[in-house]
Amino acid sequence: MKKGKKLYEGKAKIIYATNDKNLVIQYFKDDATAFNNQKKSTIEGKGVLNNRISEHILSNLSQIGIKNHLVKRLNMREQIIKLVEIIPIEFIVRNVATGSITKRLGIEDGTVLKEPLIEYCLKDDKLGDPLISEEHILAFDWASKTEIDKVKKMILRINDFMIGMFRGVGIKLIDFKLEFGRVKIDGKNEVILADEISPDTCRLWDSITEKKLDKDRFRKDLGDLIPAYTEVAKRLGILHEQSNVSAVNVTKLSSVKRKKK
Ligand code: 5GP
Repeated sequence: MKKGKKLYEGKAKIIYATNDKNLVIQYFKDDATAFNNQKKSTIEGKGVLNNRISEHILSNLSQIGIKNHLVKRLNMREQIIKLVEIIPIEFIVRNVATGSITKRLGIEDGTVLKEPLIEYCLKDDKLGDPLISEEHILAFDWASKTEIDKVKKMILRINDFMIGMFRGVGIKLIDFKLEFGRVKIDGKNEVILADEISPDTCRLWDSITEKKLDKDRFRKDLGDLIPAYTEVAKRLGILHEQSNVSAVNVTKLSSVKRKKK
């Protein structure tokens, strides 16, 4: 597979063309941004951990029949993924109320929701990813009713699977963001799961202590983001070595593990 020119650079990832028109390379950067790009930093090792964690989750989802864009991880920072036309909506899934919903609706932080709640936000940085309704999606043709119905079914399965996977390793899945894309598979139009699933896109709390093991450590200046992401990777069985891992060690662990394969 030959890496071609840069097609797109986002806040945390870069997409490169390949010699196969249906496939692209997704590169995970160490950049962290929050509050619509107002807060920025580079956290050495974050991209390596997100690449591994996202690979783990997407491969497991694939095994339960959730079609997604991952083809395979190439190296520490890169994956080959299917080129999709991204649906311009962020699908937010909440099991426990925290973050923006508590401020928007005055709900007490930590309120456990009776059922998973799906919210839609328009993917538009200039507008600050505003909350929208299903009616907006249909009115402006951002997705069809059939696509939304399919996506909602997939989201509930993804949520059930991920709640169980994280519960098994002592982590509560509080909320997360998903993106979906359109692609032709065997001549048929399909909607598949795209983007990453990682501590950058999920809120993950330790089941007992409720310690935050996700990007809120950056958003809220809590520090120790790399040890928290490393803890998630270790508990998922991705990294096996000692826990107090610095960014440099994360890089070493990743290359050691790759060589063993
Ligand atoms: P909230 O709406 O409370 O800020 O976020 C809800 C969930 O969606 C959190 O897990 C958060 O990480 C994720 N999320 C929402 N918008 C974005 C985004 O633009 N980028 C990333 N990485 N995650 C997001």
